[in-house]
Amino acid sequence: MEYVSTRGTAPTLDFEGATLAGLASDGGLYVPREWPRFDAAEIAAMRGLPYAKLAARIMQPFVGESLTLDRLEALCETAYGRFSHDAVTPLVQLDGQNWLMELFHGPTLAFKDVALQLLGLLFEEFLARSDRNLTIVGATSGDTGSAAIDAVAGRAKVDIFMLHPKGRVSDVQRRQMTTVLAPNVHNLALEGASFDDCQAIVKRMFNDRAMTDRFAIGAVNSINWARLMAQVVYYFATALQLGAPDREVAFSVPTGNFGDVFAGYVAQQMGLPIARLIVATNVNDILYRALAFGDYSQGTVTATASPSMDIQVSSNFERLLFDLGGRDGLALSAQMAGFEATKAMQLTNAQREGAAGLFTSCRADADQMAHAIRWAWEHCGELIDPHTACALHAARVAGLDPAVPIVTLATAHAAKFPEAVERATGQRPGLPSRVGDLFEREERCVGLTGTYDAVAGFVAERATPKAG
Ligand SMILES: *Cc1c(COP(=O)(O)O)cnc(C)c1O
Repeated sequence: MEYVSTRGTAPTLDFEGATLAGLASDGGLYVPREWPRFDAAEIAAMRGLPYAKLAARIMQPFVGESLTLDRLEALCETAYGRFSHDAVTPLVQLDGQNWLMELFHGPTLAFKDVALQLLGLLFEEFLARSDRNLTIVGATSGDTGSAAIDAVAGRAKVDIFMLHPKGRVSDVQRRQMTTVLAPNVHNLALEGASFDDCQAIVKRMFNDRAMTDRFAIGAVNSINWARLMAQVVYYFATALQLGAPDREVAFSVPTGNFGDVFAGYVAQQMGLPIARLIVATNVNDILYRALAFGDYSQGTVTATASPSMDIQVSSNFERLLFDLGGRDGLALSAQMAGFEATKAMQLTNAQREGAAGLFTSCRADADQMAHAIRWAWEHCGELIDPHTACALHAARVAGLDPAVPIVTLATAHAAKFPEAVERATGQRPGLPSRVGDLFEREERCVGLTGTYDAVAGFVAERATPKAG
């Protein structure tokens, strides 16, 4: 399988190359040249496969020559063996139409483990083939950082530098990052910075020749294609349980960077019968405005109880626009340059009509989010987190055909956001025993001023140059 950039001019890469690259050199994102397809008989034959085997079957066409099927399956066994539930992404029924897909049974209690546990192994596998070192630089509002650090801590030939806005992540989220004491892990708390500031510093580093000449800078944010690929699997796993390929299923997805829901789009392109994808946002609603009115314009970020959705530029939306606009990289490049200059753009008619065929969008405000948490607790005995609650709200008001099951993606464990859950239900969710002594462990974190030079200087001093 070949990977092309959404902006049309960067060199094509194979899967190994796309996994180790961050942004494409033309500023675009890598996508497979075409979507592999499974027919109904092939999908039906996947019923009942254990998760790791199913994962290898679905991902194999994307991985191509970069790994044998046996090796891919072995990596999946290792990655998903670390989950606390045998089904990896178990399904829970809420009422006659609504279901929850629980994606938080990994080591750091959010769905990002599903992709990052595998990505950590892929990095190690590919780096072992040559004498290269990888320097991962990422920004986090909490969940990506902890999942990425857990996935690469102690691995050979990888250093990770994770930037977070000081004081703006929850205690659980911070401790999940700072209590990992492996020498290849560097937590940087940026003084006076927002998540967007951290993200801007990371993007600048990808384009800083002084850094990229010396270091191979890699990405763990969802601009990395391998993350999205791993997320396609659970759409298949769940739809198969609910009767696919003979029955259509809808999904409601709490959305920030459009990575998780784009994986659902990929599953549909691969032949999975998905009736609708509901794109749920909080009040940071750029995606809602884009999908409902064609207006993709950046507002200011409002802090909410669902911080991982507090995003005003949704990187992976570019991958959808590329596909819906006839995969014309040069046209998209011009469209994105306009957005970068003015912070606003209109979708083309082709993009709007293409999106309307599959996506519905809904935004949840603070009251609607809290109401959904309360409803899940009072009617179903389930404690859900604020991100999941935005999507459950969207699922319940979407007005879909009652015969179509709607699966809400439960993206984080309620105990990651105990205050909001307690406010809504009076119940304080407890941390699962697998993260038990988190509050007793020693923390290690470096405080820096939130400037590019401070961060680049720190990384340059400690990272291992690319050829070792
Ligand atoms: C990252 C995250 C999201 C948003 O996912 P995207 O792929 O960025 O759209 C939603 N919920 C939780 C809990 C997250 O950590």
